[in-house]
Amino acid sequence: MWKIAPLNLGTLDMTMATLISRFGVANDVGRIVPSPLIAWLLTNLEDGRHILVDAGPGPEAERLSAEHNPVSIREDQLLTAALSVHGLKPEDIDTAILTHLHWDHAIGMLYVPNARIYLQKREFLYAVAPLRADHKFYEVCYKDRLPYFLRYYNRLILVDGDTKADEGVALVPLPGHTAGSQGVLVDTPEGKFLLPGDIVNTSENLETGIPGGVFNNTADVWASMEKIQQMIEKEGVTVLPAHDSNVFRKEGRLMSP
Ligand SMILES: [Zn+2]
Repeated sequence: MWKIAPLNLGTLDMTMATLISRFGVANDVGRIVPSPLIAWLLTNLEDGRHILVDAGPGPEAERLSAEHNPVSIREDQLLTAALSVHGLKPEDIDTAILTHLHWDHAIGMLYVPNARIYLQKREFLYAVAPLRADHKFYEVCYKDRLPYFLRYYNRLILVDGDTKADEGVALVPLPGHTAGSQGVLVDTPEGKFLLPGDIVNTSENLETGIPGGVFNNTADVWASMEKIQQMIEKEGVTVLPAHDSNVFRKEGRLMSP
């Protein structure tokens, strides 16, 4: 059994069209919503070992704002500060999972130097040569530097499909947002919780059944949404959205660090 704590690692300005696919019919597609950048600290309730799920965008808010959307990161939202609330340093983390390789989830792994990182192989293979529209999401378009995920390549554990990262921590392929996106299904005393990655940005994606607005395969994204709905209805799984500040409410085991 595990405890799940969300780590607040900054705020990214996203459009409504990014958070929930509007198919061009709503009038608020361009509305800017400041959205939290969230990583998750899993703590084993028996022996206290930890797993980090996603790692945020790293500390370079100014560069990220220039190259992507406006990002703000307070001192207490640096990964080092967020982990220190739990009595940890980044070097203490030896196991991590990435839901996918987008910059706002994955650059931070550069700063978790001892972690072996579970990732779907399909995500890695796509990220090294993505469609042009996805170049910026993976930062593969800059002549002066290697993409961040190649700089921790030797720490990646590339898996293919459903896999167990640990007892009570299952990796579940949920492709569509990206080619090899995965969710993390965690056993807790309150039941199973799913960290779905960016296919579910906010609770509105679940309420409407409409996925996030960034995806590279329409059939995959709808199949993954259906898979999540089945997990909710048939297995009673609780879903924790990837960019929704409601996860910081002090409710059950979830808490703001
Ligand atoms: Zn993403």
